[in-house]
Amino acid sequence: MTSFSTLNADLHCHSVVSDGTLSPEALAERAKANGVNLWALTDHDELGGQQRARAAASALNIEYLGGVEISVTWMGQTIHIVGLGIDADHAGILEGLRRTRDGRGNRAKLMAEQLLKVGIPGAYEGALHFAGNHDLISRTHFARFLVEQGICKDTEQVFKNYLVEDKPGYVPHMWAKLDDAVAWIKAAGGVAVIAHPGRYNLNVMQMDELYKHFKDIGGLGIEVITGSHSPDQYQTYGKIAQQYGFLASRGSDFHDPAESRIDLGHLPHLPDHLTPVWSVFH
Ligand code: AMP
Ligand code: MN
Ligand code: MN
Ligand code: MN
Repeated sequence: MTSFSTLNADLHCHSVVSDGTLSPEALAERAKANGVNLWALTDHDELGGQQRARAAASALNIEYLGGVEISVTWMGQTIHIVGLGIDADHAGILEGLRRTRDGRGNRAKLMAEQLLKVGIPGAYEGALHFAGNHDLISRTHFARFLVEQGICKDTEQVFKNYLVEDKPGYVPHMWAKLDDAVAWIKAAGGVAVIAHPGRYNLNVMQMDELYKHFKDIGGLGIEVITGSHSPDQYQTYGKIAQQYGFLASRGSDFHDPAESRIDLGHLPHLPDHLTPVWSVFH
């Protein structure tokens, strides 16, 4: 494997095992067709797709890293931590993720109760219908239901008008602790990476604290090139990676051919001066 920043690495995407719509095998084929040569499936809080993804990648001659995206509550906000190069059979991370998933069913019922109050019945069953894995029922599945019902024209509209703070269908939730998520990833032999830092509702001082604390507990990387960032943010978080000494990651955050803005592997390369996160996997 080369450490060049020009490697077509895509280290963030989702399958039907969480809130994506394609199977691990279909994702592997799509990655291959799009020229990806290093890939990680990073389903939310779940490792159920890892074996299939690894086998499919191997059959197509794509290098594979075990992956996950862990939901974390930090300073009252939800942030996401990607784990790369993890052993998907490690008991510690499996148990931690099981606990992290636990509250999703109950949260989904509370979300549906709120939607009912604004005149939208049947949201729990409707969302469940879109969930390939009922343990992983997520806001994305509710978003697809609201689009199917013609209440919003696309999922982007949903996340402007529903399911987010101060809008119908938002239910605050306590996810994993940051320190625990990083510890699980490290214990499973992986590298912890802050996902899409441009998306968080944290001010500059809170972000500074997040970076410093994350480093203190052994976090190593940050996503710079992601489907969740604008070109301006590629610059901003490239500078953050340098300033704090983080390894840089690259991933589409692909969920679905129609919903996702950026396809697997269709991202700009990492800037030359950054150290790619995959340099540690030689
Ligand atoms: P949950 O883990 O149930 O809170 O769902 C979070 C998921 O919702 C994310 O992983 C995204 O797939 C999706 N999501 C959240 N915010 C947005 C947004 N603004 N636009 C599109 N998808 C979003
Ligand atoms: Mn998602
Ligand atoms: Mn995320
Ligand atoms: Mn994601």
